[in-house]
Amino acid sequence: MTDNLCPKCDKELSWNGRYECESCNAAYLKVGYCPKCESELEKLQACGAANYFCNSCNELQSKSKVRFEFKPIS
Ligand SMILES: [Zn+2]
Ligand SMILES: [Zn+2]
Repeated sequence: MTDNLCPKCDKELSWNGRYECESCNAAYLKVGYCPKCESELEKLQACGAANYFCNSCNELQSKSKVRFEFKPIS
């Protein structure tokens, strides 16, 4: 997996129950946004697979189309 990169330094984030950048000493949440309405998606865990649900569109969004951003945890 190389798509989980720190938004500040572009280094790969490590997963410790949350995404962490050792260089920046920062922790991030991975947030998905709806490709249709740009609302923040709700992450649903089912059978080990993650699904992303949009409460505005009232439908599941395909993970391949979801835009992800890393939000710093303060
Ligand atoms: Zn970093
Ligand atoms: Zn939506």
